[in-house]
Amino acid sequence: MKIGIIGGGPAGMFAALEASKRFSNVTIFDNNGFLGRKLAATGAGRCNLTNINVKPNSYRSYENFEFGDIVQKYDYFFLQQYFEELGLFTYHTDDGWVYPLSNSAINTATFLEEILIKRGVLINLNIEVIDILHEKTQFILVSSSGKRLLFDRIILASGGKAYPQLNASDKILNSLIHFGHKLLPAFPALAPVLTSKDQTKLLNGVKCYAAIRIFNDNEVIGTEIGNIIFTDWGINGPGVMNLSHLIHKGSGNLQIQIDFIPVTPQLFFENSIKNEQELLKLETPFLSLLNKKIIYQLAINCDLNPQKPYSSSDFKKLMSHLYFTENVLGTRDFHFSQISTGAIKSLHINSESLESKLRPGLYFAGEILDVFGPCGGYNLHWAFISGIVAGRSIK
Ligand SMILES: Cc1cc2nc3c(=O)[nH]c(=O)nc-3n(C[C@H](O)[C@H](O)[C@H](O)COP(=O)(O)OP(=O)(O)OC[C@H]3O[C@@H](n4cnc5c(N)ncnc54)[C@H](O)[C@@H]3O)c2cc1C
Repeated sequence: MKIGIIGGGPAGMFAALEASKRFSNVTIFDNNGFLGRKLAATGAGRCNLTNINVKPNSYRSYENFEFGDIVQKYDYFFLQQYFEELGLFTYHTDDGWVYPLSNSAINTATFLEEILIKRGVLINLNIEVIDILHEKTQFILVSSSGKRLLFDRIILASGGKAYPQLNASDKILNSLIHFGHKLLPAFPALAPVLTSKDQTKLLNGVKCYAAIRIFNDNEVIGTEIGNIIFTDWGINGPGVMNLSHLIHKGSGNLQIQIDFIPVTPQLFFENSIKNEQELLKLETPFLSLLNKKIIYQLAINCDLNPQKPYSSSDFKKLMSHLYFTENVLGTRDFHFSQISTGAIKSLHINSESLESKLRPGLYFAGEILDVFGPCGGYNLHWAFISGIVAGRSIK
C-alpha cells in the first residue's frame, strides 16, 4: 500500500514515523527545502516540545473541541516515552514547559528527518501539492509542476497559515471541498494584540506579570495571568497571545485590561498603610512591586505625582487604579502569529482515527484540525500526537 503525506512538519513527520512501522512505501511532500522548517523556528529557537500539564481542557477550537479522548490517551507521559524511544531527550522548566536537552529546535528537526530517512521514508522537498483527487480506489496528488502521483492512502498534515514567511499556506484545503468537507475561517491566534495606546504611552519595552482581561461590550470574554511586554503598537507576550483568538470572535467594542491587583500580595496593602510614616514619596511602596515606568504611567493616568510626599489618600487612589484599559484595534497578522484558528470542521472527521467520514482513506493531523492550545508546548504536543494517531489509524 502506498501512503502519501502532505506536509513535513511535526504532524507529518510523526505520522510518517508511525506509518513506516507497518508500510514500506511512505512518501512525505513538503514545499520547503527541509523537513520541520517551522519546528526549527519554535520556542525562540529552543523548541518547546510539549508541556507536563497537557490535558483535554488545555485545548480550544473555533467550533467544538472534539478530540479530548485523543489528548487524554496520548498525554505528556506517552509523548515523553515516545521521544525517549526515538532518542530525543528532554527537560522541563518549573512551570512545565518541555524542551530538548540540546535546547535546539533546528537540531530537533534535523534529528527527526534523519530518523525518517533511516526508516526508508521517501522525502520529496520543494514540492507544493495543489490538489487531491480520488478516482476509483486511489488518490491522485497533483503537484504545482503538473505531476500526478498515485497513492492508496493520504494523510493531510499541511499546517495552518501562521508564518507565511516560512511558506505556510492553507491553499490545499480548498481541494477538500469537492469531498464535501467544510472549512472554517482562519484567523491569527497566539498573536500580539494591537491597542489604542491611550493609557500606556510611556511603557514601550516594559515587561511585567499581570492579570489580563478581554472585554466585548463591557462583558469579560477571557482572562489570563501571565507575562506581557508593552510595545509601540500594543502588547506582546504569552499573557495576551493566549487570549488573542477571542479578538476575532468579538463583534462589539473590544477592550483589554492589564490589572496588577490580582498579582499583588495582600501584605503589600497592609504594610504600606502600617508603615506610612516611614515612606517618603508616593512611589516608594510601589517600587517593590512594579517597574518604575509603570508606576509613573499609572500615576499620570490618575493625575498624581509619584514624587510627591506620601499621603494615604493618594496611595489609596493609586491603589484602586492599578490597571490600564486600552481599546483593542485587532491582532498582528499571520506574519506574527504562532498559529491560525479554524481550518477543517470537525463534524466530518472521525474523532478517534482522524479519518475523513466523507472520503475513507484520507486522514488529517496537526494544525489543519480545529484545535489550538496556549503558549507552552501545547500546539506541538497536538501536532505530534495527532500525527501518531493518523499514522496508526491507516487501514
Ligand atoms: C515562530 C513560531 C514559534 C512557535 N513556537 C512553538 C513552541 O515553542 N511550542 C509549540 O507547541 N508550538 C509552537 N508554535 C506552533 C507550532 O509550530 C505549530 O503548531 C506546529 O508547527 C504545527 O505543526 P503541523 O505539522 O501541523 O504544521 P507545520 O509545522 O506548519 O507543517 C506543515 C508543513 O506543510 C507544508 N505545506 C503546506 N501546504 C503544503 C502543500 N500544499 N504542499 C506541500 N507542503 C505544504 C508547510 O510549508 C509546512 O512545512 C510556534 C509557531 C511559530 C510560527
